[in-house]
Amino acid sequence: IEKIQEAAANGRTVFSFEYFPPRTEEGVENLFERMDRMVAHGPNFCDITWGAGGSTADVTLDIANRMQNMVCVETMMHLTCTNMPVEKIDSALDTIKSNGIQNVLALRGDPPHGQDKFVQVAGGFSCALDLVQHIKAKYGDYFGITVAGYPEAHPEVILGEEGATEEAYSNDLAYLKRKVDAGADLIVTQLFYDTDMFLKFVNDCRQIGITCPIVPGIMPINNYKGFIRMTGFCKTKIPAEITAALDPIKDNEEAVKAYGIHLGTEMCKKILASGINTLHLYTLNMEKTALAILMNLGLIEESKLSRTLPWRPPTNVFRV
Ligand code: FAD
Repeated sequence: IEKIQEAAANGRTVFSFEYFPPRTEEGVENLFERMDRMVAHGPNFCDITWGAGGSTADVTLDIANRMQNMVCVETMMHLTCTNMPVEKIDSALDTIKSNGIQNVLALRGDPPHGQDKFVQVAGGFSCALDLVQHIKAKYGDYFGITVAGYPEAHPEVILGEEGATEEAYSNDLAYLKRKVDAGADLIVTQLFYDTDMFLKFVNDCRQIGITCPIVPGIMPINNYKGFIRMTGFCKTKIPAEITAALDPIKDNEEAVKAYGIHLGTEMCKKILASGINTLHLYTLNMEKTALAILMNLGLIEESKLSRTLPWRPPTNVFRV
């Protein structure tokens, strides 16, 4: 995280890759092959998610260790409070500390499957703020702490098409500030497709005195169904022009991917033009779209890409 803060301060553009733990051993091995190829392009850090409800705890811990010590990339592990009494939280933090991992994304987590509300487990925490406070109190400055930010407000307070009310949005921001004041060093945002809304969010954060870097979470569109599922789950606003562009091509996998690369590139260009120089890519464990976007932005070398990527992205950016 220090590296991100340094980069943010000196104007260098940096990027990072997020992965999730695959379900099978074979999937894990495939992920590491892909990660090796992607890390060759020099991400600032890579992170691994903590499966909903703590379902992947052991695999996540294992993958995080391999990322830090075998792939040799600065690693951030996600950690949620769902189903986690404090002993389990400490055991996870002690494990990554003993493996030399210094970055944690502190989250509340979603309710486990089949439950619609988050319920605090006995001896556990009720929100990410509790977790940040705990990490600071117990581990001092050892960990760089990242927290989640929501440019459209947290999905629990979004009311259908209209989004969140002004009041709910301001409460969300005020709460985000409390997480930062409690010791978070960095904010990574929820995915979004309305770049103006993200830029407004950054501005609103600055207005209330949040000064740490705010890293946009970019989820490239890899396929239509996945895009609809994720945006539905997160209640993400989809700008009309994106719906209009996707509708006629939704059954054409290659065209959707090419559009995803085009859109991701344009969103990132706009973000970088605003002076923000950190990009976080939700890879969904896929390399093509994320690397193609970075190549279009000139952040990775094309010559290196052709050696590391079995598939070449279209150089004409986007034509459907
Ligand atoms: P919190 O920061 O605790 O906030 C949740 C909501 O409750 C906010 O609206 C906040 O305003 C409100 N709130 C909570 N406490 C208070 C309070 N004391 N006072 C006022 N308002 C309060 N989920 C996973 O299971 N695993 C992952 O690895 C994972 N990674 C993620 C990474 C990112 C970048 C993001 C954005 C989300 C991720 N999630 C993950 C999803 C996340 O767990 C959910 O969005 C969850 O519902 C909220 O987590 P949080 O840490 O944002 O919660």
